[in-house]
Amino acid sequence: MRLKRQIADLAVERIERLFELAEVAAKAGQERRSDRYTQLARAIGMRHRVRIPQRLKMQLCKRCHRLLIPGKTARVRLRGEYMTTTCLRCGVQMRRPYKTPRAPSSRRAGIGPQERTNNR
Ligand SMILES: [Zn+2]
Repeated sequence: MRLKRQIADLAVERIERLFELAEVAAKAGQERRSDRYTQLARAIGMRHRVRIPQRLKMQLCKRCHRLLIPGKTARVRLRGEYMTTTCLRCGVQMRRPYKTPRAPSSRRAGIGPQERTNNR
């Protein structure tokens, strides 16, 4: 359904804009304003059932939903195979791997269907 698709696109656009505003506010020291923007972004995502884009979601504290800015509202450290992000307000730690121990899948390596048929 085209209309549904358009509404979802618009929602994602609004979420991205709100993250921009949240970042500006956070850097200007307007913490509550910044929180309100991320809160609205989440609300729009839930209302229209669209996901917050992965790169933006990474910038959100999973507990208090604050915008995480390394060196300002968050501490980022590399520990072993993980990047640990600590929210400087609520102290929650979020870990994500930054190197892949697994062999990359053919999909991730960008091998197209043509190359796959050649291998047979
Ligand atoms: Zn937090």
